[in-house]
Amino acid sequence: MNLILLGPPGAGKGTQAKRLEEKFSIAQLSTGDMLRAEVSSGSELGKEAKQLMDAGQLVPDSLVIGIISSRIDDEDCKNGFILDGFPRTEAQAEALDEMLASKSLKLDSVIQLAVDEEALVGRVTGRYTCAECGNGYHDEFQKPEVEGVCDNCGSKEFKRRADDNEDTVRTRLKAYHDQTAPIIPYYEAKGLMGRVDGMADIEDVTKQLEKILEAA
Ligand code: ADP
Ligand code: AMP
Repeated sequence: MNLILLGPPGAGKGTQAKRLEEKFSIAQLSTGDMLRAEVSSGSELGKEAKQLMDAGQLVPDSLVIGIISSRIDDEDCKNGFILDGFPRTEAQAEALDEMLASKSLKLDSVIQLAVDEEALVGRVTGRYTCAECGNGYHDEFQKPEVEGVCDNCGSKEFKRRADDNEDTVRTRLKAYHDQTAPIIPYYEAKGLMGRVDGMADIEDVTKQLEKILEAA
């Protein structure tokens, strides 16, 4: 099963992709995570991406199309994948179609996480992850069971993203409206679009997604 989770920053794409990854044994492909790994490694690609990411702007299409194309060939994608944060422009959506056709693959579903804009700044600025295993948390909505200790691996080290501040979130939301939301009609025309209520509790959103995917 190959699907896209679509929604603005803070909609819950990463949170839900991790849950679906386990349930359906498919790989989460987050271009944001891949780019952050490139930045940490100090690669040329990372250097090119860093300034734009810190400013909340999209990196060039060619850069993300290249990393996704080689990642889809990996063994853990054989059973399927969840695209999280890609495609983000019409050019990326078209390139994805060509890429999948050339690999004899197809998309099964594109699911939009519908959220209230006012909730997003709070979701993004309260987000943090375990520095060891990457498990996601939120100051208010998703606290570890034991304060200061990761539920998944027991680590006491956590980190926050440099771009998860209020100013940058507003720029990222504008990029979503200007460049990403226009791909919704592209997938509607293909009959692939589904929609879930992203304002529900995390567990409820997972249930809505599972219902759609089990019927697909
Ligand atoms: P995205 O990947 O779409 O940018 P995340 O999955 O990282 O968003 O979610 C952003 C923050 O909001 C995280 O800290 C997460 O714990 C929290 N979150 C995700 N889904 C919900 C939800 N349904 N209700 C409340 N908080 C949520
Ligand atoms: P995310 O982790 O999805 O919130 O992405 C963080 C940042 O990485 C974005 O604000 C962009 O700068 C960059 N990025 C991630 N995915 C893409 C993409 N598909 N196209 C362009 N830029 C991207």
